[in-house]
Amino acid sequence: MNILSSLLDLRTKRLSLDGKVGLVPTMGYLHPGHLSLVSRAKAENDHVIVTIFVNPTQFGANEDLSKYPRDLERDLELLKPLGVDVVWNPSAEIMYPSGYQTWVNVEALTNPLEGAMRPGHFKGVTTIVSKIFNATQPHKAYFGQKDAQQVAVIRRMTLDLNFPIEIVVCPTLREDDGLAMSSRNKYLNDEERKAATVLFRSLSEAKKLFDAGERDADVLRNKMKEVLGSEPLANVQYVSCADYDSLEELNLIENKALLSMAVFIGKTRLIDNFVLG
Ligand code: AMP
Repeated sequence: MNILSSLLDLRTKRLSLDGKVGLVPTMGYLHPGHLSLVSRAKAENDHVIVTIFVNPTQFGANEDLSKYPRDLERDLELLKPLGVDVVWNPSAEIMYPSGYQTWVNVEALTNPLEGAMRPGHFKGVTTIVSKIFNATQPHKAYFGQKDAQQVAVIRRMTLDLNFPIEIVVCPTLREDDGLAMSSRNKYLNDEERKAATVLFRSLSEAKKLFDAGERDADVLRNKMKEVLGSEPLANVQYVSCADYDSLEELNLIENKALLSMAVFIGKTRLIDNFVLG
């Protein structure tokens, strides 16, 4: 496993990799959700590149950039047994050289949901992912369904900018009680950790209604709000039932839809989603 930080080293190594290359971009503090992406990439490619970079430009001024969990040694230990060829862990100075002023911006798809709550977030995401795509030149890139809007935005960007890369979306890995795995779960104390299962429970209740034939999006949104409202530690930021492709809020569910939410449990902001249909 080559652990590289400079762009020149990465490019030199990349040139030596023959065959199909799979990329897994991450912000580190790896958990089994990340590792499932790496295993899938390993199974489908000749070589795997994992990037670890906590991208400052996708964090808002009042967000958790400075306290975002980091543990490179631990991450490398977790990656070693998976047969990863390259771990690229660039510095912020490499990704954003002094005087930096070039941005990638996806328009309508970044307006609702996470984009509405976290202004500038997706501009940071699409810019860094473009830069990582350019540097690593993968055939396939692996992303988690956990970040549903990110997947939609990256797919759009990949088409729009003609990146010759297949975007592979992997299912959300969950703890036994349903909580979606996330590096940010580390912030939760014991009481909050129990309360955090309310996201999964509310999505499950809404899906039950859908599975029983309910197609009125308001009924599903209200069910999610009702379940979330029963948890005193939960502070709901948004609850959505949107078209899977456009991410526009629905009245009636006729095609593939996305149930999604952002909820504060104490000071920790968690997101989760289910795909319907
Ligand atoms: P992050 O380090 O949070 O930027 O995540 C890196 C990648 O891992 C993204 O594509 C995420 O969607 C994906 N990911 C994060 N959590 C999970 C999870 N619980 N299951 C599957 N993929 C995940």
